[in-house]
Amino acid sequence: MTHPIHDQVRAALEACGATAPEGTDLHARTPITGEQLMGLRATTAEELEGVLVSAEQAFTAWRDTPAPVRGALVKRWGELLAEHKDDLAVLVTAEAGKIPSEAAGEVQEMIDICELAVGLSRQLFGRTMPSERPGHRMMETWHPLGVVGVITAFNFPVAPYAWNTAVALVCGNSIVWKPSEATLLCALATDALLARAARDVGAPEGLHHVLVADRTLGEKLVDDTRVALVSATGSTRMGAEVGPRVAARFGRSLLELGGNNAAIVAPSADLDLALRGVAFAAVGTAGQRCTTMRRLIIHEDVAEEFVERLVQAYGTLTIGDPSTGESLVGPLVHEGAHTAYAEALEAARAQGGELLCGGERVLADEFPDAYYVQPAIVRMPEQTEIVRTETFAPILYVMTYRELDEAIALHNDVPQGLSSAIFTTDVREAERFVSDAGSDCGIANVNIGTSGAEIGGAFGGEKHTGGGRESGSDAWRAYMRRATNTVNYSDELPLAQGVEFL
Ligand code: NAD
Repeated sequence: MTHPIHDQVRAALEACGATAPEGTDLHARTPITGEQLMGLRATTAEELEGVLVSAEQAFTAWRDTPAPVRGALVKRWGELLAEHKDDLAVLVTAEAGKIPSEAAGEVQEMIDICELAVGLSRQLFGRTMPSERPGHRMMETWHPLGVVGVITAFNFPVAPYAWNTAVALVCGNSIVWKPSEATLLCALATDALLARAARDVGAPEGLHHVLVADRTLGEKLVDDTRVALVSATGSTRMGAEVGPRVAARFGRSLLELGGNNAAIVAPSADLDLALRGVAFAAVGTAGQRCTTMRRLIIHEDVAEEFVERLVQAYGTLTIGDPSTGESLVGPLVHEGAHTAYAEALEAARAQGGELLCGGERVLADEFPDAYYVQPAIVRMPEQTEIVRTETFAPILYVMTYRELDEAIALHNDVPQGLSSAIFTTDVREAERFVSDAGSDCGIANVNIGTSGAEIGGAFGGEKHTGGGRESGSDAWRAYMRRATNTVNYSDELPLAQGVEFL
């Protein structure tokens, strides 16, 4: 009997108005069972050429469209996303293996960013500043960049695309999307809804494109001088390739890469609250979030009690088919992810770690081609090499500390710098953690876990996480170029710095 997800996927695609280009170049697959959902024809290099020409042409019409009018497109897209929230969530569950509430949450983020971007379309503010010359005015103005290339990862197949696209569109850019090869159906449905929105509001043709492609075409996008900004979400390995290539042609890049996120649990922490915060961040999305908590740095006075309770909580987790709505932990994305999980646990043992719970593959009889694993907790004697590495699976390494400074030093002593948290009721500790001398991450939380960011803030991280910021706050500036304008409204021509000439 075929799994019901097959029919659900076809119905969701149809509801969103998406037509999948059937073929045999690439395959849509579900990690729920490991089965193929459908074969797809890949976008060719010649078609990419047409896409770039079309995106450039659309850009010239779009940049002349007033920003609040551009906002109408994003407003309509947001309405359609809300209308089709359940359809898109089904596709996210099917291709990324998320449980329904997390899949719906991801689509909600898309709706939220559309709302933010619509407001932003009337607030692309520049500053004015006093000129040193009489009869002169200085100001800065912000202008669209051109074609924005968006590369996305499998684990958030739609929200980061929307963070980029909703904002980049109101900023006046056109978009070419290279989604993950693992989540192409999510991309086709999302793009179909944007196409419908564009038709509804009469936006120019060619403003947005989706490539059905693997990384080969992604590399062409990265190297093409017509792409003004490459916004790439994915592994640090990918960013290390993409960043220098874009820089070599003096393009702009915005990198959102891997994390190795930790929480410090202090002796004064509300341990009930911390337990829930840690469990969701460490186990949600089966440990496949960039913000997943991978390290727990806990004060030695509370470590034993807390870890014991955490192990108990892990024992109650339901692991299994996410589409039933009855499990909290879905599958790993593919066999490679399972291999990485098993190898990391092996390395942790070799580096002195003690496995406290989990560590096994489960449901292999029922789903021989899918990879469900028990979330693992490993006590480590110190922050060894494997702890400093992002393994994209549910493994939480536990280390203890005595003094807060020691905990913060341990916390920061990893290559990545995405998200972080402290659980404490001591205001001094909380403030120290978010101060200049505290967490070195792009996200530093107090009394909530490392994952589950809201769209109002700027999202991203430091060091090997790539330095990019997306979503709220002033992240929109990455999608525009700034010009400083000096206007002389006098009939004299005084030169700056008092220079005399002619
Ligand atoms: P990945 O790096 O394998 O792939 C990400 C995307 O990059 C895919 O679309 C892929 O086709 C493309 N790609 C890979 N190499 C490329 C190249 N050389 N040129 C152009 N495109 C290339 O990552 P993944 O396995 O899909 O996702 C998991 C990783 O993404 C984890 O490391 C996770 O932490 C990270 N991630 C980061 C964020 C963030 O916002 N910081 C969000 C989600 C995921």
